[in-house]
Amino acid sequence: MAISERATTRAGVDRADTAQGDTLDVTPRTPQVAGGFPAQRLRRLRRNEGLRRMVRETRLDPAEFIYPLFVSETIREEAPIGAMPGQSQWPVSAIARQAERIAALGVGAVILFGIPAVKDEIGSGAWDDHGVVQQAIRAIKDATPELTVITDVCLCEYTSHGHCGLVRDGEVQNDETLELLARETLSHVAAGADIVAPSDMMDGRVAALREALDAQGFDQTPIMAYSAKFASAFYGPFREAAESAPMFGDRRAYQMDPANGREALREVALDIAEGADIVMVKPALPYLDVLARVRDRWGLPIAAYNVSGEYAMLKAAAANGWIDERRATLETLIGIKRAGADLIITYHALDAARWLAEE
Ligand SMILES: [Zn+2]
Repeated sequence: MAISERATTRAGVDRADTAQGDTLDVTPRTPQVAGGFPAQRLRRLRRNEGLRRMVRETRLDPAEFIYPLFVSETIREEAPIGAMPGQSQWPVSAIARQAERIAALGVGAVILFGIPAVKDEIGSGAWDDHGVVQQAIRAIKDATPELTVITDVCLCEYTSHGHCGLVRDGEVQNDETLELLARETLSHVAAGADIVAPSDMMDGRVAALREALDAQGFDQTPIMAYSAKFASAFYGPFREAAESAPMFGDRRAYQMDPANGREALREVALDIAEGADIVMVKPALPYLDVLARVRDRWGLPIAAYNVSGEYAMLKAAAANGWIDERRATLETLIGIKRAGADLIITYHALDAARWLAEE
């Protein structure tokens, strides 16, 4: 392109940009220049870290991380979880120390999962005021009152059959389960839980928990609903960690079909209507489209659960030297946030918090 032509074209662009539809005679834009190369060169803002940092659209903050903690009544010391390298079950006696380490890293919250010494048909350990989670809540809130404690509300860790609700004739009973979940919730909140997170996928459970909380004077306790929880193969390692694999069948009669995006939006809409303060998409990586669609439609805080299988895949690849663990982990977390998550429940929380502090 000759210099004179280029000057004319540039002037044409400038006038077109400022004329806003008046009668100025504007040199026609060429497709090449209008909105394109060479006038626009997106590499200009990628030239060095100073520029890149300035225009970065998404940032990670440990305050947005929620770290899952497994508390077990059956162990006396930390018990590493085989399928989740770097993660452990903890006895109640060690949980306060661990909570202090987590809080010191600036991580926003923990979410507790309990492994009781005894399980039964109805999961009564779930609402035992001296149960493993209730003890852990008290220990953590005593040691680190500033660390937000979220509790997973479900029966599968406490039932002998490993299902998330009351089972009769081989089927999980929806409405009868709601009352048991309400008991569990009230017990967690009475012990000091800051947020309750129902993960069972029974219909109507957010409304049932909201009603139960309000009736007992806990109208200030938020509910984080596992709203779009899919029946996923990526939960595999968690079942070892929480000792909650179902003894028969699977959870596809209450968790969602991985193929269904529109139904996920209906689940989210219902949970919001029932009073959820935070909604969740679980797992994260195979469902980033769902996360983005939820983000587009609603303004409330959204959590994504970066689940055990997603964690285990990265750890396994890193252990084999196939990927750079630090970069791949932070890229994963930023991808989840970019897709729409405000909060990320992740086993990487402690590592990521350390890495972010170094940057
Ligand atoms: Zn469950």
